[in-house]
Order: sequence, then structure tokens, then C-alpha cells
Amino acid sequence: MSYDDDNIFAKILRGEIPCKKVAEDEHTLAFEDINPLRAVHVLVIPKGPYVDWRDFAATASADEQAAFTCMIAHVADLTGIAEGGYRVASNIGRDGGQEVPHLHMHVLGGEPVGPLVARG
Ligand code: AMP
Repeated sequence: MSYDDDNIFAKILRGEIPCKKVAEDEHTLAFEDINPLRAVHVLVIPKGPYVDWRDFAATASADEQAAFTCMIAHVADLTGIAEGGYRVASNIGRDGGQEVPHLHMHVLGGEPVGPLVARG
């Protein structure tokens, strides 16, 4: 899948639509999910135009990959969920239920998150 510059996270990165920023560094942005599923629900995205994990793993620099990983732990600390525990999840592609075609990690916590997936 090629990257779509019109996706909503690309617009957030360009400042065309607002977000509630939690943290930011040179390579990564973290902001509150607009439709939170738990008390804490933050999205962590790379600033580069990556559709999904395969794209990111294959083409992002080592610095971008390190920043992305570290930002998740930083967000857990900033939001106070590190001690109680939390879930990090990424929906990829059709079967993964990905709605926004820009790589993102959901960081969920602040209360019990529940089963990873419902039994089908
Ligand atoms: P996914 O289904 O994994 O692609 O998740 C996309 C997530 O983006 C959903 O949890 C949405 O609530 C969230 N979302 C969509 N638009 C916005 C926005 N403008 N600001 C913050 N979060 C958003």
C-alpha cells in the first residue's frame, strides 16, 4: 500500500487539524485518541510517512525506530500508567482493522484494559 498524504494523521502532523499533544520529539508524536477506549488512550506515531510496521521496519532509520520505541515508554511514564500496567497495540491492514493508514501504536491504560481480543 502506498502512503496517502491525505490521511488524518498526516494532516495532524502538518498542523492542518488539531490534536491534544502528549509528547513529541524529532521523529515521533504522541497525542490523545479522539475517541478514547480507556481512561488513558494515547496514539504514538512516527513523523515520517509510514503506512504500517512492514513499511516502517523496512525503510525507517535506526534513529526513527529507536525514537518510536522509546516514546511509548515515555508516554506510559507521562500519563502515570507505567506502574499499573498498560497495553500497546497496533492494528495493521484489513484483518487487523486499521482505519488510519499511517503507522500508530495505541497505548491504553489507567484502568483494566481487558482481553486482548474477543473470542470469535
Ligand atoms: P485504527 O483503527 O487502529 O486505525 O485506529 C485509528 C484511531 O485513530 C482510532 O482509535 C480513532 O479514534 C483515532 N482517531 C481518528 N481521528 C483522530 C483524530 N483527529 N485525533 C485523534 N485520534 C483520532
